[in-house]
Amino acid sequence: MLRVQRCELDLTLLPQPRNHPVGDAPGRIEGACTLHLHNQGRRTVSRVHLLLYRLLRVTGATQDGNRALALRQSVRHLPVRDMPNLYVNRVSLALAEDLGPGQETDLHLRYAGALVGYRELFPYAHDAVHPDIAVLRPESLFYPVVGPLSLEGLRRAWSVPAFRVEVRHPADWTCLLPPARGVRLGDGATAFESADEAPGLHLFAAPYTTARGEGVLVHHRPGHQEWAQAVSSAALFARSTLQRWLGPAPAAGPVEIAEIPPGWGSQHLPGLIAQCGGEGPEQVFRDVAHEVCHFWTPSPCADPHRFCDESIAHYLEDLLVGERAGGGRGDDALLRHAAVLRERPGAVRTPLASAADGADVDIVSRHKGPVALAALERAIGKERMFGLLGSWARDPGAAGADAGAFAHFALRALRDVQAWDIGRFLDDWFFTEQAPFDPDMSPGEALDLSLARYRTAS
Ligand SMILES: [Zn+2]
Repeated sequence: MLRVQRCELDLTLLPQPRNHPVGDAPGRIEGACTLHLHNQGRRTVSRVHLLLYRLLRVTGATQDGNRALALRQSVRHLPVRDMPNLYVNRVSLALAEDLGPGQETDLHLRYAGALVGYRELFPYAHDAVHPDIAVLRPESLFYPVVGPLSLEGLRRAWSVPAFRVEVRHPADWTCLLPPARGVRLGDGATAFESADEAPGLHLFAAPYTTARGEGVLVHHRPGHQEWAQAVSSAALFARSTLQRWLGPAPAAGPVEIAEIPPGWGSQHLPGLIAQCGGEGPEQVFRDVAHEVCHFWTPSPCADPHRFCDESIAHYLEDLLVGERAGGGRGDDALLRHAAVLRERPGAVRTPLASAADGADVDIVSRHKGPVALAALERAIGKERMFGLLGSWARDPGAAGADAGAFAHFALRALRDVQAWDIGRFLDDWFFTEQAPFDPDMSPGEALDLSLARYRTAS
């Protein structure tokens, strides 16, 4: 098996000037990349397969500095169910010298092209180089990855081990590449270096201004001070409330937020929250609170189990929205989840522990999951619930764990609960294919009826 041990990338962002005669033409990038490869398999390797964004073309490749390599490249369909339009540039390089087991080599590639993201496929991947912002995430494959032609292979492959990235950008822009700290190399260039494995490279660059206060940093775009203020106070409220409820977050450090355009997909990355700007105050609060909740859902791996990641974050987000409005969750949040689940009876029946890669994974994790946690809270009370989630967040076994592991952790933590059969409750919601509650009923009644089954005789 061929492993990338280190990635060095020189990247130039070339946005089109605002008054360009071709109007909205996408900006371009130019890249020069060195991949330090190690053959960890038992077979000699004579050919290397790389994947790149569909519009990026390799213009030259060499091995160990000077030996030019023969290359073939063609835009190929990535065979992923439900994604008929996912195309990538597949690059095949014949090595100048075979790479035996245990041997290492450096591949140098030059590539260039336009980048407009996979907006038709991933709701969050509107990546592009615009006149006033550039957002590039691993899903867009703006850097070459060594991997097979499959989405799973791709997800594994786009995580990078140690890296050094140098970005050239317009002189008045600030460039962010979390979790690495940028070093300004003069006007229009920033360097990043990391010795740790990262779940893919995420790059944000714009004429940002940074607002700082009480451990919260907000990088906002010109004229958006008021938005930055709203974001900052939402982050402070969410962080202090969650600290009070759950105890300290396992990942300490400042909350750092970068503004991205509306509709481009808010995301919590290691070291940075990418937050859509321009939305109303309620939405801003909900989004920021949600992303701050992820400080208590530690997932250092590239592809965390959605229950441990999203169900817990949505459950806490609902509580934070209620707390800000004056306390309690209110039935609003549960009504919202029930309305989504009513349309997808299959999702209501999908056990939380097996929702990791099914078709309904998002609906199950973002709607059934928070309802399950609300039901458990109704049984054991908020204080026990907060104690459970806080200790789970800080448990070494929680990082990268799946929903089944959470259920077993909950069972151990709640073994002294007498009034409820917690084991059967967890079994029905996490492991059994059945509808543990009826989304057609009013949520409060539905949960009471569902819980009645688990009340013990004592
Ligand atoms: Zn989330």
